[in-house]
Amino acid sequence: MKYQGPVLGVVAMAFVVGVAVATSVPAASLTRPGSFDDLQIQAAAGGEQSFSAAEGPGASVARDGYVIHTPTPTPTPKPVTTSSGSEGGYGGAQCQAGADAVAESAAFSPVYPDGNRMSDGFGPRAEGFHKGIDMLNSPGVPVHAIADGVVIAASGDGGTGGVYTSIAHKVGGIAVCSMYMHFQDGSLTVGVGSIVTAGQVIGLTGRTGNATTEHTHFELYGADGVRYDPIPFLTEHGIAP
Ligand SMILES: [Zn+2]
Repeated sequence: MKYQGPVLGVVAMAFVVGVAVATSVPAASLTRPGSFDDLQIQAAAGGEQSFSAAEGPGASVARDGYVIHTPTPTPTPKPVTTSSGSEGGYGGAQCQAGADAVAESAAFSPVYPDGNRMSDGFGPRAEGFHKGIDMLNSPGVPVHAIADGVVIAASGDGGTGGVYTSIAHKVGGIAVCSMYMHFQDGSLTVGVGSIVTAGQVIGLTGRTGNATTEHTHFELYGADGVRYDPIPFLTEHGIAP
């Protein structure tokens, strides 16, 4: 009888893990760009570890003369609306949690190893601040993960970002999160919690969401959720477009 406690403890732990897995799929399927609502991040190989990442209180960050509003996520999925009108994507807390769950990235890959044309870069443009870079390519060309990591957001149900995914990486001990938008419908090959390797195909080039031609809108952000110009990072790691 004196071993009953530990045995019950194991059973209870298994139940908790089961609940986390059971709730992760619907939460992920309802997530839209910019909301990251109730993300359940299941990380680590084999699902042996599960944890939930919750966004902290909303905040506004002033930088270089513009203001980025980070809304406080709610359990209700909602379309992205920002003051700048740029394509969405937040989730600094999820970025940090994902990076904490993975090993340092061992390799890097261009989004398009066979090359691409460039359109808009990071910065102000007529319709608002552009929080990423636009890489043009032909319909259906595979899109590749830039580094090893874990998927922290994925959606195939539209919104301004269309079919998109975001991956958390650890680089130099720092959380670096990549975001890829506008994949073809049905082409997303990963889901929240998927462990990916550098160069892995994560979807196919499309124009879903707010896009006027086939391209991948690519963003980088960190634990603060603030988007930054990805070109210097990509150049530093030899994977600039
Ligand atoms: Zn874009």
